[in-house]
Amino acid sequence: MHELFLIGNKILTTLEANGYKGYFVGGCVRDYHMRRSINDVDITTDALPDDIERIFERTIDVGKEHGTIIVLIEDTPFEVTTFRTESGYSDFRRPDQVAFTSRLNSDLERRDFTMNAMAMDDDFQIIDPYGGREDIGDRIIRTVGRAEERFNEDALRMLRAARFSSHLEFQVAPETERAMAEHARNLEHVAVERCVVELLKLYRGPGVKAAKALMVKTRLKDHLTFLENIGDEDFLDTEVGSLENEIALQMWRDPGLKRHLHELKLSNDMKKEIQNTTGLIEMLHSPATVREVAYSHETKILENASAIMASNTFNGLKEKRELIRSAIGLKPHLPISGIADIDLDGNMLMEFFNARGGRWIRKVFSAIELEILDGNLENDRKKIMEWVDAHVEYEAGDIKIIEE
Ligand code: ATP
Ligand code: MG
Repeated sequence: MHELFLIGNKILTTLEANGYKGYFVGGCVRDYHMRRSINDVDITTDALPDDIERIFERTIDVGKEHGTIIVLIEDTPFEVTTFRTESGYSDFRRPDQVAFTSRLNSDLERRDFTMNAMAMDDDFQIIDPYGGREDIGDRIIRTVGRAEERFNEDALRMLRAARFSSHLEFQVAPETERAMAEHARNLEHVAVERCVVELLKLYRGPGVKAAKALMVKTRLKDHLTFLENIGDEDFLDTEVGSLENEIALQMWRDPGLKRHLHELKLSNDMKKEIQNTTGLIEMLHSPATVREVAYSHETKILENASAIMASNTFNGLKEKRELIRSAIGLKPHLPISGIADIDLDGNMLMEFFNARGGRWIRKVFSAIELEILDGNLENDRKKIMEWVDAHVEYEAGDIKIIEE
């Protein structure tokens, strides 16, 4: 039994000792049944949030109004959520009302797919009122209840179906798939942030290709920010293992997509990563040296582009693959990884030339940077100042580099 279940079991028994019921629920039960690895374990209970806070020593309120409290046991956090029913979805996204219930089955009933609507008690017995185990056996993703209704309540579930089909390499049940095709356009009402969470997971699964085909077949793709601007064929013929690389590659193929990137509301770091990866693919198509490629990109970006090069076709692919591989190899051996690494500061230059600061300092640094990268100059302040003395002439706020 996984350690998380053993530690989490203390929550279940403590709840029981206080007259409540508690169960493991959702993804962890599915993964346990499938003998997959477990990352986090969620617990559901008939205890109300205030009860949970009263019973357990260490708790964090992360969404009391939705019934969720984090309980810390031996420093491990567990999400403990009160049994809920949801009702009155008037806008295809969040329920208008969340109501607590004392029945486990009502809580399981609101969950998206049969495989996700199972609970497990403190004896590790699975409670499976909707045939989750049977569907897992058949490798089928099926909504709990009528698919049209469930997708009308929350359109994100359609994208979650695609995400799980990639993650688990399962097929979507025919009636569930039919409802996806019928309701695809409702995805436009779902907050882009929620869609991105599912897309990130979808792209990290082993069944990306099939999931993308499903998104095209059901037209989900046409109602997703950014992806809607990519033609079906272009969307289907890439081989990528992350959403970031998909976007980077598509933006390289069609620079017109760049203006839609912001619509995904990604973090600045992620946006930068994507833009830099696209920039690197562009650079590989220009006459760039291994050193230039290595120096101008972070390892993460080099690796993104390398992964893209490994499984997609480009003109002159072999040379580009070699260039990027050499750059990754060279990267750790570069004498500096950026101007900030140069063993010198602007004040030393100002003192040396007895001059005030200005653009000229940057010019000197750029010249030193090149010398160091070319291997002509050691990154040592004494050596650098000697080089400056011999090669830099300062006059009236500007400089001249004297070549040897
Ligand atoms: P993973 O292992 O990838 O996290 P998961 O099944 O735990 O998979 P989560 O997104 O973490 O997926 O959701 C936890 C559980 O909450 C699900 O198993 C499901 O029971 C329920 N759930 C999540 N989102 C929805 C939704 N939009 N509609 C209905 N139930 C949902
Ligand atoms: Mg989860």
